[in-house]
Amino acid sequence: MTGSFGPPVPPTFQEMWRELLPLGRHSGSGGYRRYAWTGADTECRAWFAAQAERRGLRLDVDRNGNQWAWLGDPADGDAVVTGSHLDSVPDGGAFDGPLGVVCAFAALDELRRREGRDGTRRPRGRDPFPRPLGIVNFGDEEGARFGLACVGSRLTAGQLTRDRAHRLTDGDGITLPRAMEAAGHDPDAIGADPERLARIGAFVELHVEQGRALDLSGDRVGIASAIWPHGRWRFDFRGEANHAGTTRLADRRDPMLPYAETVLAARREAELAGAVATFGKIAVEPNGVNAIPSLVRGWLDSRAADQTSLDTVVAGVEKAARVHAAAHGVDLDVVRESRTPVVDFDHALRDELARILGRKRDDGQAPARIPVLGTGAGHDAGILSSSIPTAMLFVRNPTGVSHSPAEYAAEDDCLAGATALADVLEGLVHG
Ligand SMILES: [Zn+2]
Repeated sequence: MTGSFGPPVPPTFQEMWRELLPLGRHSGSGGYRRYAWTGADTECRAWFAAQAERRGLRLDVDRNGNQWAWLGDPADGDAVVTGSHLDSVPDGGAFDGPLGVVCAFAALDELRRREGRDGTRRPRGRDPFPRPLGIVNFGDEEGARFGLACVGSRLTAGQLTRDRAHRLTDGDGITLPRAMEAAGHDPDAIGADPERLARIGAFVELHVEQGRALDLSGDRVGIASAIWPHGRWRFDFRGEANHAGTTRLADRRDPMLPYAETVLAARREAELAGAVATFGKIAVEPNGVNAIPSLVRGWLDSRAADQTSLDTVVAGVEKAARVHAAAHGVDLDVVRESRTPVVDFDHALRDELARILGRKRDDGQAPARIPVLGTGAGHDAGILSSSIPTAMLFVRNPTGVSHSPAEYAAEDDCLAGATALADVLEGLVHG
């Protein structure tokens, strides 16, 4: 419906959520399989483009395939941008990523409603925001298909070269450039985009919390302080394959045994350091029920509040692995596959968010104290924080479960998140 005094009435938060819900949902698991440059991803992108169009926003797909919806002209500079991602991990939940995008559109609608109520601030039919406002959907945040997270934002920020991106390959042997091409995007255009980032004055990503800090503190919304340093290490235990029935225990060089001891050591080291450490992926050769393995390859993911704690955990795990490998006559190689330093979000912007959200509103509903919390999960906001002032808002997740179909946030909390984001955007665009 189009009124004579402004853009068409946009869909509500609930309507947007309902539209997005069936896209890329796997009928068996009930989880989402929205992998980069697949049919499900294309459907999500079409949804984003339709939302932009319904609001009269200018859609812009950048050289790396990230989608941007603009109100005002980003060329004016100092733009305020919000958004997140629509892709998912294998059998992921509905909230990780999409909540930030749906809340972004809902917050913009709320902002327009507020402006519309105030005749002195809104010349009829025109958005009077002094700074351009953008909503972004970053491509391939989860890295579910090509094994590297935040590909869209990494490319844009110059943290991933075109050559390295072109070598990324999925489980079926399809390279990233081929997948991009098949989805109608030019893979030769990808690369750093400093001009685009230079036009952005602030990026605020809203995200479902991937822990229980807000649930424990009884708050609906919080502000991120930092993203913990984290990394991935590959442990290769090499022994000797042999018959599971005829080889005496004393004669075995079984790499599964030191691997098992190492998993337990990771748990102990993480507990001691107040960190987390996980062996969540394993490859075994020859991988037969009746064969002693020749190789056990396990991947350690570890994260801690500071670099020293992280280094201590990983050094402790590696030491235990070497001791146990030697005791079983097994060779060990440890390879660091990735390491991401701590992301400390822009202090000035974080303080500004706390000030805006702590301010008493007319209805007296806004909380006076906004919790500030760290997180062990990576985000596009973390990637961009080295280029532009960046902040994050978290919405309460009562179970803390994430990357699973059980991931959940109550509708009231989601709406509180959208309102908080509207408050933040309003405060930022008006300075
Ligand atoms: Zn996410």
